[in-house]
Amino acid sequence: MTRDGQRARGRSRRRDTDDSPGAGSAGRGHGEAAGPVLRAVGLARVYGEDESAVWAVDGVDLDVPTGQTLAVTGPSGCGKSTLLQLLGGLDRPTEGEVWLGGRRVDDLGERALARLRRRAVGFVFQAYHLMDELTAAENVELPALLAGVSPRTARRRAAELLGHVGLADRARHLPSELSGGQRQRVAIARALVNKPLVVLADEPTGNLDSAATHDILRLFDELRAAGQTLVMVTHDERVAATADRIVSLRDGALADDTPLNTSLDTESGSTRLGTLLSWED
Ligand code: ADP
Ligand code: MG
Repeated sequence: MTRDGQRARGRSRRRDTDDSPGAGSAGRGHGEAAGPVLRAVGLARVYGEDESAVWAVDGVDLDVPTGQTLAVTGPSGCGKSTLLQLLGGLDRPTEGEVWLGGRRVDDLGERALARLRRRAVGFVFQAYHLMDELTAAENVELPALLAGVSPRTARRRAAELLGHVGLADRARHLPSELSGGQRQRVAIARALVNKPLVVLADEPTGNLDSAATHDILRLFDELRAAGQTLVMVTHDERVAATADRIVSLRDGALADDTPLNTSLDTESGSTRLGTLLSWED
């Protein structure tokens, strides 16, 4: 499959982001470009070929303004995880474009894409995906070290973030010594360690009981107050109801787009978490 030929189709739709209206860099001060922090244009991903081809994502146009908490819902198999992976550069689109922080990213080379994923995207998965042989603190430090942060700064960031998610006293524990909810809080701290432009979470409460779900939702609420952009895939209506906006997918396409909260509260970006997310090296 030649990606270049397919991607050329998207050329005429390439946009100049400088003049697009948008939320600007509300609450962040990272100097990211104006306009939506995350944008999908005509996004499609096909698995397989010919008669067995599956259009897992099929022509999605989506703008996510800075600071928005967006829930993505829809029945199993409708393409939620595939969409999230495309948005975060874990997978390449068959057609269409992904823009992050005002830059087109779907056509980056492998090294540049890996670098972008590390620095600009924080992933949270249903099954946590922590490194079993590393402590909680080491798991949080790792993406910072990979991004070139000094060991001392990485340690400091990990300690502060673990403190923030309520796990200061578990920093030296292995994942196997933590509950599911605690593991997911470690994963959230890890997702934040490089101050990402967006956090992408795939069924983040899917393995958790209601008390642990509540803890995670409280953390997401703090992320929202701190101006962090968050896209979360969820089956759980209670979780989706906490978002600013819900989009639903059917057969890979956007079926519905409902705003819940129209006024983004970035005023409280001076929360403790806001400080953690905006600190300089
Ligand atoms: P969701 O997360 O909404 O359950 P997915 O994005 O995982 O949906 O899957 C969307 C569709 O793509 C499904 O039909 C699934 O079977 C198919 N699919 C997902 N990943 C692959 C893959 N690696 N190879 C082939 N088909 C896949
Ligand atoms: Mg999924």
